[in-house]
Amino acid sequence: MNARILDGRAVAAATLERVRDEVTRFAAAHGRPPVLATVLAGDDPAPQTHVRTRTGRGAAVGVTTRRVDLPASVSTVDVVARVRELSADPDVDGILVQHPLPAHVDERTVFEAIDPAKDVDGATHASFGAMASGTPGFTPATAGGIMALLDAYEVRLAYRQAVVIGRGPIGRPTGMLLLARDATVTYCHSRTIDLAAHVAEADVVVAAVGRPGLVRGKWVKQGAVVVDAGHLDDAGNAGDVEYAVAAERASLITPVPGGVGPMTVATLLAQTARAARERTS
Ligand code: NAP
Repeated sequence: MNARILDGRAVAAATLERVRDEVTRFAAAHGRPPVLATVLAGDDPAPQTHVRTRTGRGAAVGVTTRRVDLPASVSTVDVVARVRELSADPDVDGILVQHPLPAHVDERTVFEAIDPAKDVDGATHASFGAMASGTPGFTPATAGGIMALLDAYEVRLAYRQAVVIGRGPIGRPTGMLLLARDATVTYCHSRTIDLAAHVAEADVVVAAVGRPGLVRGKWVKQGAVVVDAGHLDDAGNAGDVEYAVAAERASLITPVPGGVGPMTVATLLAQTARAARERTS
């Protein structure tokens, strides 16, 4: 293997140290810790695991997580009502609605019930618009985490060709943040002709699809930076990139697990601490 590892665990740990300091200062000044509310509907094991991980990491840095668990049969109206309560609650600083909600629930309507000042996973149109226009706001935690990881390794983005595979909730905002940093961005998706040719041109590849091994290692340009946000719990937590071969060619590459995942949690908690500070200042 030639590539250096983009070590999400190490960078996330350093981020969380800074969050812990900020949280300690906040709690001393306000007599309570920052509070992150997580809304989860249904009992799928994967989202439950994500919520447990966040709760554990949050507790380690002093952020309290308040769980709102709803049955899979919950209606849109009822989820919206719970999110509105959290938006109005002065003791809640951040709100995360766990995607995906059950298929019959109108996820967009639920997201829009989040107070943008508490939108620590960048789910609302207000946050998306702010990000698109380059004004301050909260980014989706995974996209923000990917950028923080690239920055930690001082990856140059200006003048470089970035290829983002996936235009879902992970890929689309990541491409916008890369564009804001002066990369030349191409989005690829399920209707892209010749994905291999696009990847072969890329200085920076971000894969956010959820199809293990979709990105063949031999497509990766020598020296490229490869970020694999994909993971499929059902497939043993496998990423989108054929890791071993890609690592022979890349200069930097994220492992799965241990790359983007820890950065997502760290970014979410950092944004929760920031929301608490900004709401109370
Ligand atoms: P999504 O909404 O399902 O989007 C998947 C995207 O992949 C879509 O844009 C789809 O294209 C594209 N795609 C599907 N098949 C393709 C193919 N054969 N070639 C090229 N593109 C293809 O997924 P998401 O919510 O953005 O999540 C993406 C991945 O990130 C998932 O694996 C998810 O588990 C993972 N994830 C990771 C973290 C983390 O912290 N690491 C957090 C959240 C999610 P169309 O738009 O044309 O359908």
